[in-house]
Amino acid sequence: MLIVMKPTATEAEIDRVLEIVETLGFRPHIMPGASRTAIGITGNRGAVDRAHFENLPGVSDAIRVTKPYKLVSKDLRPERSVIKVGNGEIGGDELAMIAGPCAVENPDQVFEIAQVVAASGAKFFRGGAFKPRTSPYAFQGKGEEGLKILAEVRDQFGLNIVTEAMDEHGVDMVNKYGDCIQIGARNMQNFSLLKYVGKTRMPVLLKRGLSATLDELLLAAEYIMAEGNYDVILCERGIRSFGSHARNTLDLSVVPALHKITHLPVIVDPSHGTGRNYLVDPLARAGIAVGADGLIIEVHPCPEEALCDGAQALLPNQYLELYEQVKAIRKVLTPVAETVSV
Ligand code: PEP
Ligand code: MN
Repeated sequence: MLIVMKPTATEAEIDRVLEIVETLGFRPHIMPGASRTAIGITGNRGAVDRAHFENLPGVSDAIRVTKPYKLVSKDLRPERSVIKVGNGEIGGDELAMIAGPCAVENPDQVFEIAQVVAASGAKFFRGGAFKPRTSPYAFQGKGEEGLKILAEVRDQFGLNIVTEAMDEHGVDMVNKYGDCIQIGARNMQNFSLLKYVGKTRMPVLLKRGLSATLDELLLAAEYIMAEGNYDVILCERGIRSFGSHARNTLDLSVVPALHKITHLPVIVDPSHGTGRNYLVDPLARAGIAVGADGLIIEVHPCPEEALCDGAQALLPNQYLELYEQVKAIRKVLTPVAETVSV
């Protein structure tokens, strides 16, 4: 059930609806919007009787939700959500660039890259301290020591830190040192982890699972939001396919398909989406061209020595050039009304 309030609804009228939802034993989720406030209801097993709400003062409509997702849906919030991450925003007018190494290796490596990222004007820095590796013998990340290096990057360069957590302990750690928790592709359907990050109030970058459908990705986001954390950013990072020319198949059609259904921002990861240095640039440009709200890009000064994902890392100068190009593409997409006065 979705309760749409009238644009003129008072705070007291909204509070009355919230109170009734709670009295019925359900959870209300209030979504203030530009033109009206909507209240989503979760926790109900069957249909909620519209009669509880439709005649209340300030209520415009009580709509039965027939789709599998509620809180991610544009029915609840027709306008796009802009998610605050530290002192930056994802989903707003400005293209969000999240750049940095795959893994935090050592302070020198991280600071060298952070300098480039900060100088480029990007507001977000990525780097994994907990690495989900296919082999248990591969570099697993530096854990808390790595997070401390990232926290220093924030202090020195003013960049907002996006970093992955693989379990509940990791979430607590990222909450302490970072600005945005990344839930990686392999954990997209780790439902207890999703519920756990849903209980934090930190923004979540949720990556699409290796073989997840659009509905599965949205329902994973729904898990987080149902716990009261509405700050979710979706990320297309490629899905498993049969080709061998690229590590994954970057599914760019999912970007407009998601934007059609959800108010959440959608970003693209052409690094994991392709796995090859020479493919990152063109797919990043394409990602912005299809309307992504931002990019997450791996950068390394010496890819052949990287402890993780060197083959897909961009050199600093490649990254700088790419960023200028995608900003130009983004500008072309800005609605004409905003750039031309008639
Ligand atoms: C990463 O961002 O370094 C990463 C491991 O991503 P994914 O979960 O998309 O593989
Ligand atoms: Mn990586």
